[in-house]
Amino acid sequence: MSWKTKRAGKPAWNLFIAGKWLRPHSYMEVYSPVLDSTYAWVPRATESEAEYALKSAFKARKGIAKMPAHKRAELLEEAGERLKAYEKEIIEHLAYEAGKPVKQGRGEFKATVLRLKYAAQECEEIYGEAITGDYSPFKEDKLGLVIRQPLGTILAITPFNYPLFTAVAKVAPAIAAGNSVILKPATDTPIASFYIAKAFEEAGLPEGVLNVVSGKGSEIGDLLVKSNLVNGISFTGSTAVGKHIANIAGMKKLHLELGGKAPAIVLEDADLDLAVKEIVTGALKFSGQRCDAISRVLAISSIADELVEKIVIQSRKWKLGDPLSEKTDLGPLINPRAVEKVDGLVKDAVEKGAKLLMGGKKRKNYYWPTVLDHVPLDARIAWEETFGPVIPVIRVGDEKEALKIANKSNYGLDAAVFTRDIDRAMRLALELEDGEVTINAHPAHGLGIFPFGGVKDSGMGREGIKYSILEMTEVKSIVIKLRK
Ligand code: NAP
Repeated sequence: MSWKTKRAGKPAWNLFIAGKWLRPHSYMEVYSPVLDSTYAWVPRATESEAEYALKSAFKARKGIAKMPAHKRAELLEEAGERLKAYEKEIIEHLAYEAGKPVKQGRGEFKATVLRLKYAAQECEEIYGEAITGDYSPFKEDKLGLVIRQPLGTILAITPFNYPLFTAVAKVAPAIAAGNSVILKPATDTPIASFYIAKAFEEAGLPEGVLNVVSGKGSEIGDLLVKSNLVNGISFTGSTAVGKHIANIAGMKKLHLELGGKAPAIVLEDADLDLAVKEIVTGALKFSGQRCDAISRVLAISSIADELVEKIVIQSRKWKLGDPLSEKTDLGPLINPRAVEKVDGLVKDAVEKGAKLLMGGKKRKNYYWPTVLDHVPLDARIAWEETFGPVIPVIRVGDEKEALKIANKSNYGLDAAVFTRDIDRAMRLALELEDGEVTINAHPAHGLGIFPFGGVKDSGMGREGIKYSILEMTEVKSIVIKLRK
C-alpha cells in the first residue's frame, strides 16, 4: 500500500503501523482555515487500528532498546536528511492545514531538521554514574552503577500549532533513548506526521518502532492513554485534556506540556523600544497560537502611555493575509471555533471597561491583530489562555503588584521581564511561578536548547535537548557487593 493516495480529488494519507502503510477503515477530512473547506483526508483510526498500533510498538520496543546508540544516531541523522526532500510540500501543507505563514513554516521546518540532528548527538550522551557506598558504614562494601534505560513504549500526543516540530520533539528523543513510539497527531493538523513516518521509513527504522495513528482524541484517545502496553506518555496540548489524561493514565510516566498565559512585566527603567518589539513579536507570531505567547502585558503606570502608543505603531506593521504569501505575517486562526473564542474574550474585556485601540475585527477565520488597554482584572482575558493575536495591557502601580497579578494565574509556563536593572530582573525571575522566565526578550521555546515546561496548570516535566531524554528513560541501579 502506498503512503499517499487520492480521495475525492484531494490528497490522502494512510496509517503507518508495524512498518507498513495500511488503508484505514475510514478517513476524516482535514479542514483548511485558508480555503474554509476540505483540504485533504487522513485516516480516522478505529479502536482496533489503535490497538494494532499499540501492539506493534510494544513488540518493537526490545529491538530498538538493544540497537547500539551509534546506530540509533545514524537513523536519526538519516531521517533528517530524508525529510529535507519534502521541505516544500510540508511547508505548503502547514500553510493550508494550520494557516501558518510560509516564512514561519520554513522556520518550523529548519528547527525540526536541527532537532533530529541534536537528538542524534544525544544518543552519545545517555550516561549514568557510579556511586561508592563507603560514606555509609552500612554500605561500605557496595558499589552502585546507575544507568538510564528506555521506558519501552512512548505514546506521543501532539497539539495543532506546531505539528511538525512538536511531533519530532517527541519522536526523536524517544528513539534516541531507545523507545518505540505511537504518535497521535491533532485532528486539525495531522499531515506532517505522515512525512515524519515516511522519512524514518526511508532511513531504515525497524518496523513497529514508529507508528502513526491519526484519529479523533474523543474516539481513540482514552484507549491509547489507558493501555497497559504504554510505558510513558508525552503529551502537549490543552490543560483540560492534560488533566483528563493524568486522571485516567494509571501507572505510567507522564510528561505534560500544557497551556500558558505568559505575562510581560515592563518596569519603569525598561528599554521601551526593545520591549515593544519583543512584546509584539511574542504576542502576534503565528497569531498568538503558541503556548509561550505573551498574552498579557503588566505595565507600570508611569510608562504605560508611551509603551501602549509604541505597541500600537509596531502592531500595525504586522500584515494579515494569505499564509502562502511571503509578505504575510499573520494567517487565519485554526478554525471558526477559535475565532469565536478570541472574539468573545475581546468583547468581554471591552464590556468590562478595556479600551480597544486597534483590531477587534474578524472575517471568516481571520482575526485582526488587536490591542486592548486598561484591561480590568475581572476581564476573562486577564486570566484565560487567548490563543489569538491580542495584546491586553493591564496597568499596575509597581513591581510588587505586577508580581502578584502574574502569580495569581493558574498557569505557570512562561514570563518575560523588561528592565535595565539586573537585580530587579533577577528578583522577579526568582519569584515568578513559571517554568521559564525570559529577561529582555519574548519567551520562545524554540529547539529546546533551554529546557521548558510548566508548573501549576501548565504541566509537569521538561522538554528540550537532554531533558526530553531524561523524561523518556528510567534510572536503574545495579548494586555490586565487593568482596575483600
Ligand atoms: P488539545 O485540544 O488539548 O489537543 C491536543 C491533543 O490531544 C490532540 O491530538 C487531541 O486530539 C488530543 N486529545 C483530545 N482528547 C484526548 C483524549 N481523551 N485522550 C488523548 N488525547 C486526546 O490542544 P490543541 O487545541 O490542539 O492545542 C492547543 C493547546 O496546546 C493550548 O492550550 C496550548 O497552550 C497547548 N500547547 C502547549 C505547549 C507547551 O509546550 N506547553 C506547546 C504547544 C501547545 P484531537 O485533535 O483529535 O482532539
